[in-house]
Amino acid sequence: MSIVSNSLKRIKPSPTIAVTSKAREMRAAGKDVIGLGAGEPDFDTPDNIKEAAIQAIKKGDTKYTAVDGTPILKKAIQGKFKRENNISYEVDQISVGTGGKQVLYNVFMATLNPGDEVIIPAPYWVSYPDMVLLAGGTPKIVKCSEENEFKITPEQLKKAISKKTKWLIINSPSNPTGSCYTKKEIENLSKVLIGSKHVFILSDDIYEHITYDNFKFFTIAQIHTLKDRTLTMNGVSKSYSMTGWRIGYGAGPKDIIKAVAKIQSQSTTNPSSISQAAAVEALNGTQDFIKTRSDSFKERRDFVVKTLNSINGLSCLKPSGAFYVFPNCKNLLGDKTKLKTDKEFVEKLLEKAEVAVVQGSAFGLDGYFRISYATSMDNLKKALDRIKSFCESLVKQ
Ligand code: PLP
Repeated sequence: MSIVSNSLKRIKPSPTIAVTSKAREMRAAGKDVIGLGAGEPDFDTPDNIKEAAIQAIKKGDTKYTAVDGTPILKKAIQGKFKRENNISYEVDQISVGTGGKQVLYNVFMATLNPGDEVIIPAPYWVSYPDMVLLAGGTPKIVKCSEENEFKITPEQLKKAISKKTKWLIINSPSNPTGSCYTKKEIENLSKVLIGSKHVFILSDDIYEHITYDNFKFFTIAQIHTLKDRTLTMNGVSKSYSMTGWRIGYGAGPKDIIKAVAKIQSQSTTNPSSISQAAAVEALNGTQDFIKTRSDSFKERRDFVVKTLNSINGLSCLKPSGAFYVFPNCKNLLGDKTKLKTDKEFVEKLLEKAEVAVVQGSAFGLDGYFRISYATSMDNLKKALDRIKSFCESLVKQ
């Protein structure tokens, strides 16, 4: 009999981490691999934030804190929601965790019973289905088409809701597609949700600050009638280049927030006291660099999308957010290239061209792959040249 639990057998390791490890191995073996697989900004954490952490250490903020966040950080989060989203939360409607990932995991652990369904629009962030499975729930995957910019439509949502639906996940801007829901699109989904009072909404806003072309970010908790059924997750990882600090937060109904803290109290206790102090500075300090960094991401997005669309066999939408694009490679699959799946496509790309990307099927939609352009322009130029030659060689065979 295996020592491994049954619930663990239901899940698989993160495919994005698998690609990153494979690329690392190849690099260690002397290969010149360019990684376009990582889900983190290549910029460093701004100095004012680092300084706040140094001061916290010097002041002795080095002890346990309240399980779900220091009062001062909760106040900063409360201020952020009011200032940026015009949403009012009381402090006991806010919970801080070790990254947004822990907040999501705790929410599912705290709310799912066997048989409960979670609607997950695909392509999705790889961790959602596995977290739901670990918590004993059932992922209900809804495949969203490229024609709809990979976003769930009100008709699809209506069809997916059953008596067993507990949550709908909305992730905008999206990982892996970069697609963003407009205010109108959120309002149209809300019309379906208002009639389904048993459905809660989990809004993953982690890429909120990485948007382009004057996109106006809108989050579903801004719809008054849905606020009491919405758990908004956000964090400092992507907006402030703080992936290693591990601070994320959730805001929503008090009973869920209380349940989340209960789980955290029996697992990790508080997130790092020093990281919490740094997050206070991130949220309360200058926000100037957000614009500069987004401008730099935009330049890369424009370059990547234009180049991909110039390659025979590939096509790519131009998304308004995050630092990912999700090109279509269906024309390069099949008899003429002898590559049957997107997984084979990315494996060959890594082997022959030494460029690491992640197959669309890992995100729940076949025939695509994800590029993260959170790397230097030099790297992107080199990588895109290689992708172009690789695709040309496939057709010439
Ligand atoms: N949600 C999405 C869509 C993400 O892409 C990520 C990180 O990759 C997270 C949540 C988790 O972020 P954190 O680093 O704060 O745990």
